[in-house]
Amino acid sequence: MGAKGASEDGDRRIGRRALIVGGLVAAAGTAAVARDELARLWWRLPGIDKPRKPGEVDFAGARWVAASDANWRGADRPDDYRIDMVVVHVTQGSLDSAVRAFQDPGHKASAHYIVGKDGRITQMIRELDVAYHAGNRDYNERSVGIEHEGFVDRPEDFTDEMYAASARLTARICARYGIPVDREHIIGHVEVPGTDHTDPGPHWDWDRYLKLVRRAGTAQSEEKRSAAPAGGSGSPTPGS
Ligand SMILES: [Zn+2]
Repeated sequence: MGAKGASEDGDRRIGRRALIVGGLVAAAGTAAVARDELARLWWRLPGIDKPRKPGEVDFAGARWVAASDANWRGADRPDDYRIDMVVVHVTQGSLDSAVRAFQDPGHKASAHYIVGKDGRITQMIRELDVAYHAGNRDYNERSVGIEHEGFVDRPEDFTDEMYAASARLTARICARYGIPVDREHIIGHVEVPGTDHTDPGPHWDWDRYLKLVRRAGTAQSEEKRSAAPAGGSGSPTPGS
């Protein structure tokens, strides 16, 4: 978010999946090498084939509140769209008003997560799915959107608890999808091509945030190592 009257994403156009499959059908006529890939994609149509449980979250401890399904699109990420970005937003309002907006089918926008001033995290859309938060279809498909409760011109809204919780969340996302922790891949809404939004604004401390994300990433991978069975030859934990 970040401005009133957010423009639509144009997310309802024919999906890229259809274009990819169409292209493969054409290619398969001449190139046998495409046949395997075509078969792999073909049976998957229309996708959305990962098991889902109602109320399940992607970040341990997050509260689940479902967004209106008018504000996001079902997908099967990262298999259909590669996730290589986190987009940072500021809500320009309270946590409750952001939750209500994302539940409103007329709002036409939403993000995967909202981080409160108290550091609590609400998830409203699964990372599997495409949330309409960036105002740019390509960026929506390849990113996870995180809102932060507050206003861009009120630096006091960006609390220590908020930075710490958001950094832990982003560190997890980066580890899960192999996203580099840098400013090319962790960006503000303001940096999305074509946007008229300014969030997270000049008071968002990017140096501090990136440092916290790196630190959280290191802590999380050490936790994981020490949780592994000692001297075990077991296989790595799947799907972390
Ligand atoms: Zn925004």
